[in-house]
Amino acid sequence: MSEPFVRIEGVAKRWNGQLGVENVSLDIERGSFVALLGPSGCGKSTTLRLLSGLELPDEGNIRIDGNDVTLAAPSERNLSMVFQSYALFPHLTVAENVVFGLKVRRVGKVERAEKLHRALEITGLLGYEQRKPGELSGGQRQRVALARAIVAGQPLCLMDEPLSNLDAKLRASVRRDIKKLQTDLGITVIYVTHDQTEAMSMADKVVLMKDGHIQQVGPPQDLYYEPANTFVAEFVGAPPMALIEAAALTGFDNATRIGIRAEDVRVAADGQGRLNCTVADCEFLGSETFIVLDCPHTTGLTVSMPGLQHIPQGEAMSITFDDGALHFFDASGERIETDSVASAA
Ligand code: ADP
Ligand code: MG
Repeated sequence: MSEPFVRIEGVAKRWNGQLGVENVSLDIERGSFVALLGPSGCGKSTTLRLLSGLELPDEGNIRIDGNDVTLAAPSERNLSMVFQSYALFPHLTVAENVVFGLKVRRVGKVERAEKLHRALEITGLLGYEQRKPGELSGGQRQRVALARAIVAGQPLCLMDEPLSNLDAKLRASVRRDIKKLQTDLGITVIYVTHDQTEAMSMADKVVLMKDGHIQQVGPPQDLYYEPANTFVAEFVGAPPMALIEAAALTGFDNATRIGIRAEDVRVAADGQGRLNCTVADCEFLGSETFIVLDCPHTTGLTVSMPGLQHIPQGEAMSITFDDGALHFFDASGERIETDSVASAA
């Protein structure tokens, strides 16, 4: 087996005892889109900065394209970066901003012009060459930052929350632009986000982190359908997976908590279901309504109903679900495989 394009092994970073990340190991395939996902402060940016060379690790090593770059300078790593703050020069035009790095690297005028044209074409910015960043919308500025990363022509691009300054609608469209760019150019992208929708919709592989540690690595569907622990279960998906104390249901003695997704919960005839709840809230989303339920010994219990639904708060609702849809977790929150849990049947 040949080595993956990027290999992080046992990396740790601390500042005066303050933990950044610990025991981070990760393989990234060439040409893939990898999302580093997790709540604020979990170590996403630290991991990205260690990859870029802006920070150096206390432990472990990092290999890119077969080279040990653990202690290498950022300029020696053949990568480009895009940040949340576009980091554009306000007094330079779009064109000047995009080719700035090429100029520094003394790339010739003709080659610069060619690369500029191609990058502006790809990012839909042709015609905006002479504008200053102040004369652009947020989405256009972010495209300039992308164009600048593209002209660098590097095989690896690191992005740290590049869309968080954009409004929701624009975020969704630039998200698709970035994904398309990555596939068209065949580059490897490592993308930091705290937004699970972004990670799930863009990435080939999601790396979910918490408190400086990796919780689960896998394709989006693995994290959704087989969460490794209750943290993953509650972080991935909207609404998050509901958790029920195992003692509230009969027959699952080996589990401590049981997970269920909203789409697997069904409304039963009054008092005939497996749990008797009351309606806490209705969230109308257009194609469906999430009915949020109150029920002792559960958190986040929700049922999805089609279209617009209006159920008064406090109304009784009995719910049911199939054993096959359940997820089981032990006392420490780790996933238990279904076949090792005794069934009530
Ligand atoms: P994220 O990007 O996931 O929000 P970070 O990687 O920025 O999180 O931070 C991870 C942890 O490391 C946080 O607790 C943060 O306070 C800490 N940290 C990051 N950079 C520094 C630094 N330069 N000095 C001290 N602590 C830092
Ligand atoms: Mg960050």
